[in-house]
Amino acid sequence: MAEFKVKSKIVSETNSKNLFQRPDGRGIKEMRETEAKVGVVPAADGSAMFRTGKTIAIAAVYGPKKMHPQHKQDPATGQIRCEYNMISFSVDERIRPGRNRRAMEISEITKWALEPSVMLDKYPSQVIDVHINIIQADAGTRCAGINAASLALAHAGVPMKDLVSSVSVGKLDKTLVVDLTKEEEDFEEGEGPTDIPISMTSSGKVTHMQLDGKIGVKQLQESVDLAKESCEEIYEIQKKALKDAVDMEAKK
Ligand code: UDP
Repeated sequence: MAEFKVKSKIVSETNSKNLFQRPDGRGIKEMRETEAKVGVVPAADGSAMFRTGKTIAIAAVYGPKKMHPQHKQDPATGQIRCEYNMISFSVDERIRPGRNRRAMEISEITKWALEPSVMLDKYPSQVIDVHINIIQADAGTRCAGINAASLALAHAGVPMKDLVSSVSVGKLDKTLVVDLTKEEEDFEEGEGPTDIPISMTSSGKVTHMQLDGKIGVKQLQESVDLAKESCEEIYEIQKKALKDAVDMEAKK
């Protein structure tokens, strides 16, 4: 896991002037309305819903269980198997059902983002299946999926070192903002959009970072700082979802 130090508290000149108007009127550091809930798929060993604005992810965890096919078993460690899927009616223009390259890539990335937080050495030759379905999409689906999946793993009682929280930071022309909508991802003025999804543990260890666009080193460091602030907020929402489930169980 890479450890980014939160060293620059300086926001870029454009950001500090804060002249940039987001289409939905949010502040540059303001996430969309966010909520999380666990136990949404009773048949699964663990499950969670994570919503940011109009983007909704449902994650269901099955296992740990013996890895099949057998030749994929690793006697030294357990494994996570992720399947990300955006369902056909999650966006206005219907998506062709079934696996596609984008879904395969995001499935792999989600696995990489989660793996460092899970104590897989406790489950040699076993597998934990994580199924993520995006039932409504307005950008940031890989981050919402990671947030839901981390919660679902914790809800399943899988031993973890930490939760993973994820947010997309974007550079719209020259300004950094958090939690982009699809409208913002399609921004075309000036330098255009740069999308930087970042995932990290609550102790600030980055487990995943992607970059689609162009950005300088200084603003990239600032992006990590912004992501850290948002991930701290997301972590609190995730923790509350788990606590609410425990409280509900105790009341039964
Ligand atoms: N999208 C879409 N159809 C597709 C793929 C994506 O309408 O086949 C939209 C959807 O709103 C998604 C957004 O484009 O959230 C951004 O997709 P991207 O691949 O950048 O990943 P994300 O931001 O969702 O992690």
